[in-house]
Amino acid sequence: MTFSDLGLSSALVKAVEEKGYAKPSPIQEKAIPHILEGKDLLASAQTGTGKTAGFTLPVLQHLAETKHPKYRPLRALVLTPTRELAAQVHDNVREYSKYLNIKSCVVFGGVNAKPQIATLRSGVDILVATPGRLLDLHDRKAVSFKRIDVLILDEADRMLDMGFVRDINKLISFMPEKRQNLLFSATFSNDIKKLAAGILKNPVSVEAEPQNSTAKKVTHKVYKVDKNRKTEFTIKLIKDGNWKQVLVFTRTKHGANKLTQKLVKAGVPSAAIHGNKSQGARTKALRNFKDGSIKILVATDIAARGLDIPLLPHVINFELPNVPEDYVHRIGRTGRAGAAGEAISLVCSEETEYQSEIEKLLKEKLKSTIVEGFEPTDTAPPKRAASQSKKSFGRKNKGGNSNSSDRNKSKRKPHFKGNKSVKPNSGRGRTGTPKKKRS
Ligand code: ADP
Ligand code: MG
Repeated sequence: MTFSDLGLSSALVKAVEEKGYAKPSPIQEKAIPHILEGKDLLASAQTGTGKTAGFTLPVLQHLAETKHPKYRPLRALVLTPTRELAAQVHDNVREYSKYLNIKSCVVFGGVNAKPQIATLRSGVDILVATPGRLLDLHDRKAVSFKRIDVLILDEADRMLDMGFVRDINKLISFMPEKRQNLLFSATFSNDIKKLAAGILKNPVSVEAEPQNSTAKKVTHKVYKVDKNRKTEFTIKLIKDGNWKQVLVFTRTKHGANKLTQKLVKAGVPSAAIHGNKSQGARTKALRNFKDGSIKILVATDIAARGLDIPLLPHVINFELPNVPEDYVHRIGRTGRAGAAGEAISLVCSEETEYQSEIEKLLKEKLKSTIVEGFEPTDTAPPKRAASQSKKSFGRKNKGGNSNSSDRNKSKRKPHFKGNKSVKPNSGRGRTGTPKKKRS
């Protein structure tokens, strides 16, 4: 199967050939023909499977075929959850539309709106945006959605997690009823299906590979380490292995900063990337990581989501995520494009329950290793004994031990910080960010 077999024009085929794509990826093969037919589509495939080209190519073709000879109203809108992802999708749009007379633009928060407004006013065919900034711009009458005929929600699962549903629905309320809707997601959860049911009309569903299959190309390694020795251990891993490019995940922004400082102090060039960093700092960190001038990128889940970092040999989970699906997203950063990857998790006694939940999702036991000189000394958390009533266990531990089963029972609860317990329902999200974030 080639890109032209899928029905794409020679201008597009030429552009992807220049990008070095030999043939369409499985999700592209499945999605592109339906999109060209104008159908609504719900597509799910793991990170790194080429979803961006999967929607961008057919949408560009549609825009090129239906271009108004004189006017350039906004006709296609791609919504993404984060600024980095918006910038990245837009880079792709520009590259793929190289040989077409199509204008595109990207808008997101954290940077001056004036140039964005000026570009929008000059007329663009396709816009890539984060929901918050786009609503602001719409409020300011800098953009009209009246002529939108294709709406694309990229990384829809993450948009749900980040609380963007209301913003998305508000944006949709300004669009014409008759339009094509495409929803792309790494996971196919019930929440995604619910979101899709509200937006898509008689959608075709396509799935590239069964969930977690990419994970199989990845070697999972768990090191049992005391919590207070994780930094030391991370430095040892990186130095001993002479690793050149490592993505390290922490659960909190504060944790990301702290670790980065210590790595830099230890002589390992590193930078942190998270929601509290300015747009400039985030872009710079990513660029430096890609060009090799920094070796370690320390990221929170939300910041790392969807970033295009090709062929990353190592991913370190400095802390396990408390949402098991996030583990799958994290390791999606390694072992890309058929190359082998290693996902390393540093697990202290407090995190054993998270490990079990991840193993359940992966349907695979993660092999644990103890390294000489780093033998864990902290005591194992109380196991939920069969004889013990679950109810009393949860109650007794409320506000006490950070491993209270009470907190771990439900998915989206705040995680602990240090040994202090964080009150459930304190209104904070997973990485300490407010649930809803205007981007
Ligand atoms: P996803 O959105 O599914 O996470 P991306 O669209 O970011 O994945 O693509 C991941 C990487 O794969 C990018 O570097 C992209 O340029 C590359 N890519 C996309 N399609 C192809 C293809 N058909 N052949 C080779 N590489 C591709
Ligand atoms: Mg993507």
